[in-house]
Amino acid sequence: MKKIKNACKRIYKKYHSINIKVRKTVNFAVGICVIAMLFNMEFSLVYGVVLSGTEVGCVSQKSAVTEVINKINEKYAPYYSNLDAIDVMPVYSLKFVRRSDITPEDTLCENIKKASGTMTKQTVIEVDGNALAGVLNEAEAEKAIEICKSRFTDENTAECEIAGNVEIKEEYAPSSLLTGAEVAAERMLGGRYFEPVKVATVEYETYENEIAYGTERVENGELYEGNTTVEVKGENGKEVVKRKIEKINGSIKSNSEISKTVEKAPTNEVLMVGTKEKPSGVGTGSFAVPYNGNITSRYGQRSMGNHKGVDIVGPTGSPIYASDDGVVTYADFENGGYGNIVKIDHQNGYETYYAHCSEILVKKGDVVKKGDLIAKVGNTGRSTGSHLHFEIRKNGETQNPLDYID
Ligand SMILES: [Zn+2]
Repeated sequence: MKKIKNACKRIYKKYHSINIKVRKTVNFAVGICVIAMLFNMEFSLVYGVVLSGTEVGCVSQKSAVTEVINKINEKYAPYYSNLDAIDVMPVYSLKFVRRSDITPEDTLCENIKKASGTMTKQTVIEVDGNALAGVLNEAEAEKAIEICKSRFTDENTAECEIAGNVEIKEEYAPSSLLTGAEVAAERMLGGRYFEPVKVATVEYETYENEIAYGTERVENGELYEGNTTVEVKGENGKEVVKRKIEKINGSIKSNSEISKTVEKAPTNEVLMVGTKEKPSGVGTGSFAVPYNGNITSRYGQRSMGNHKGVDIVGPTGSPIYASDDGVVTYADFENGGYGNIVKIDHQNGYETYYAHCSEILVKKGDVVKKGDLIAKVGNTGRSTGSHLHFEIRKNGETQNPLDYID
């Protein structure tokens, strides 16, 4: 501190020791410098810019104007074919203005567009920075957007929007851009100058699904091996599935399940599976072909009365096999038409008859297994040719053998 005080004192003494004339000159020079500094803080030397005879603003640097012109030309290039939107050279003139009067960039841009003579003030619809269409006012712009959306919406549409950053701006734009809402929508969807707008929609779909029932098998010692009974009948369940479908301009972009609710759980089928060892002489419940030949007369099919079985034609002496396990209850000639006949009781409600045999190879009381040779094809009894008459009876009632034979 002391040093500074001393230095100041020395300068002051020196200043007062110099000649009065010189002192006046120094005072004047310092005054001019201060005024110049103050002036420079408030005012600035700038370029006034004139385009096509119209003043469009003041800039500190000429490059600011060329940058703005380049931006405009680039942005609206599609609307001017091979020409530039702004194809006139700006004219510059130096001037002093208050610093606050330097034109901001967006104002300069609008002034240049206005001076171009090819642009009109309008409401521009921009998507992702691309000027797609221009209309008279904001309401018309909203209408054009709604027309675009309506092309891809129906009663199933839950949500709808234009994809991307949509902006509605009041500004100068190519005069050729200005049109009505309908044409604006066509231009936005048509992609004449830019990619067509993307209308993103969401739909929800709800439907019912059947849930297939499973099967549980429970072993049962009361039932014979190979036999099964249904204890609980299976029933399918029901579920409600909700899906979200996202589309762009009507094409599906994603389809995802958003929820699944079980409305009714399925009831599993419960099957009793027999484990009890089957004694010999008890049928399995399924029947094999006793003799493999051509069937010449079917069950129930005869002009004179009802045919109780099927006739299988074959040469005399051909083998006849037991159709299932059982016990022989009759093996002899029977009056009344059957001729030589073997009857087997399968001890499960079923009986089988093998008639017109030429030879019988079993006797009453024999226990036979499915496939055992029991007799031979013949022409005994009321028969007009060598054949096997085969019957299946259930609880005494004749059945159609073709419904049973494997
Ligand atoms: Zn017959």
